[in-house]
Amino acid sequence: MERTEFINQLKGLDTDGKTTIDLYNEISSLAMNYGLSGAKEPADRNAYYLSMEFLIGRSFFNNLLELGVLEETRNILAQKGIDINVFEEIEDAALGNGGLGRLAACFLDSAAGLGLPLQGYGIRYKYGLFKQAIVNGFQVELPDDWQRFGDPWSQRKEEEKRTVKFADMTVTAVPYDVPVFGKRVNVLRLWQAEGNADAEKISEYLYPADDTEEGKLLRLRQEYFFSAAAVGELVEKHVKKFGKRFDNFALYDAIQLNDTHPVLAIAELIKILTADYKVRFSAAIQIAKETFSYTNHTVMPEALECWSADLIKKILPDIYALLMKLYSKQKKELKKLHCTRGEISEMAIYSPKKFSMANLAVFIGNTVNGVAKLHTKILKNDLFKTAYKYYPEKFQNKTNGITQRRWLMLCNRELSELIDKTIGAEWRSDISKLSGLNSHIERVADEFIKIKAEKKRQLFEYIEQHEGIKIPDHFIVYAQVKRLHEYKRQLMTAFAILEIYKGLKDGTIKNFYPSVFIFGAKSAPSYKRAKAIIKFINEIAGKVNADEEMNGLLKVVFVQNYNVSYAEKIVAGTDASLQVSTAGLEASGTGNMKFMMNGAVTCGTMDGANIEIVELAGRENNYIFGAEVDEIERLKSEGYDPCALLKTNALHNYAVSSLIDGTFPDGDTGCFKELYDALTVGASWHKPDHYFVLHDLEGFVKALLKINADYQDRTVFALKQLKNTANSAYFSSDRTIEEYSSCIWKLKK
Ligand SMILES: *Cc1c(COP(=O)(O)O)cnc(C)c1O
Repeated sequence: MERTEFINQLKGLDTDGKTTIDLYNEISSLAMNYGLSGAKEPADRNAYYLSMEFLIGRSFFNNLLELGVLEETRNILAQKGIDINVFEEIEDAALGNGGLGRLAACFLDSAAGLGLPLQGYGIRYKYGLFKQAIVNGFQVELPDDWQRFGDPWSQRKEEEKRTVKFADMTVTAVPYDVPVFGKRVNVLRLWQAEGNADAEKISEYLYPADDTEEGKLLRLRQEYFFSAAAVGELVEKHVKKFGKRFDNFALYDAIQLNDTHPVLAIAELIKILTADYKVRFSAAIQIAKETFSYTNHTVMPEALECWSADLIKKILPDIYALLMKLYSKQKKELKKLHCTRGEISEMAIYSPKKFSMANLAVFIGNTVNGVAKLHTKILKNDLFKTAYKYYPEKFQNKTNGITQRRWLMLCNRELSELIDKTIGAEWRSDISKLSGLNSHIERVADEFIKIKAEKKRQLFEYIEQHEGIKIPDHFIVYAQVKRLHEYKRQLMTAFAILEIYKGLKDGTIKNFYPSVFIFGAKSAPSYKRAKAIIKFINEIAGKVNADEEMNGLLKVVFVQNYNVSYAEKIVAGTDASLQVSTAGLEASGTGNMKFMMNGAVTCGTMDGANIEIVELAGRENNYIFGAEVDEIERLKSEGYDPCALLKTNALHNYAVSSLIDGTFPDGDTGCFKELYDALTVGASWHKPDHYFVLHDLEGFVKALLKINADYQDRTVFALKQLKNTANSAYFSSDRTIEEYSSCIWKLKK
């Protein structure tokens, strides 16, 4: 279909009396037809991205942008008296929790944009990540029935359904294909589980814990379900094309395992090859080794998946038998390499009663990669140090990225147009050109300041509508938006705000430029301490916002239901991006990159990709504080006493005591006391202040106040912000995907 035909159909669309949802479905279908008509033959060699999560967000605007018809659609609808923004009523497809799922979506976007054949495989959850409301300061979870708007961006492929067998049930896996538009049209294939009620449960809910194990049996079924459906299909396609020879399998198929969730795909491939096609065990292992690669996303011990051997034996006896056999093979291989017994048990895929998914992925994986320089270094020197000793060639770094199409062009049209005007529009198809902006920043600073003000105004308007809090236009915006987790240290930001509040009240902080702190975060429903932190922040917000002395000086907002669409607004309207994880614990972060690209300075620790951000944009243009990894290590080994800090630092004591001195009510849950105890005496297996909140707090407050002081020369501060935008090309997922493609997948354009 020609572009003009799409435009004509759109012009001819009868919009009278139709609801927004009707129009959404009709326009989306037109665009689908147009987009799919541009699809080419499938490539010979493809890479497949297996991921439990794809945090897509809204497809409507993004797909129209990718198809190059967004502006015309906007205009045509305007002529019909429809503001295209009404489609913001359509809620996000949130088939993911946070960074890991959003990364998967950015990767698909970039591969299609670059013309690289990368296909996605995942699960079509009936309910995505819960919708969050804040009631009395507490998080309340509501089901996310995203399909109630219709799902015009996917096509059910009835004839390509498959069966996935468990010992106790057989499940039908029905594919829904979501096209990913760009230079190529790629496909995200999401499997829906069908059959009896138990079978359907498998694709009913996205697990809301992104870093802890939960609901083990169902979670195991989910992981096996989509992995087995994907691998089964790939083998079948291969056999159709080449007959029953598999020595060339890895020439055509590269499979990337996004974290350990799809790692059972390894066992499934070996199982199918040996059982159904009589490939020798060692040959099947070799094929798997050439096919799979593994991306690690976290070094937090509680997030490294292990599956109970009994559980696997019970519902997947063939996989259990195969894994045990593979374990014997592994031991032989490691003995040949002269590993010690200790080393073998460190790397073993099986240790009494459980299988380690990470060890399996590292053993079979053709490559193993971390997602930022520091993270990869930690993988090599710490988490997988023994494997690195014996298989150094496997290890690679692939620093994460974000797609500039959604995270700049779409969410910040105004800044994008300024860039066009300044350096030409080539950066839109070749992001490396963005660095050209460096030589013009003085010239465009004034216009940048106007644009930032406009994006702030838009954000504040949205916040007023949705949260009922009015923020004056000139306020500095500090934002911390991301999943709620202790290691991300939203609690430290809460304390910092309290200290600033106190300083403003008692006059020790002078010349403070009016500021708002914006938080957005969902907590896993079962993560009590994270939920307590949400409540605490909301209590602080309530107190500060109600204090008349603070009126016009300080505001705190916790936005409800932080998701991709909210993120699009927040990243564009922020001045300072808070990225304050305990050094060594945030593998990369991608939120940090979105903010940087939109011209926010980073106020953060030397962790994850912050290090690379600062390297590229200049430390002088960002605000770095806090312990670095070696210091954290030293504190851990030499001992760290947060209570001593509380005794000597009255401000810290004021902030932390507010948890227990009756300043803030916790609804009689005891949850604030529990937070206090975790900081001062330790809780469960953690030492007191396991995440070094109090250690880094003083430096953090100083950094926040430095930003506040620097901002008062608006031009000088804008130059810092622009330096961040101008040097953000490296954090485009186009760069990341080019690297995956050339170093791991070896794809052709
Ligand atoms: C980018 C993004 C994330 C990841 O944020 P981090 O700060 O890297 O943890 C999480 N959720 C949403 C909705 C995002 O868009």
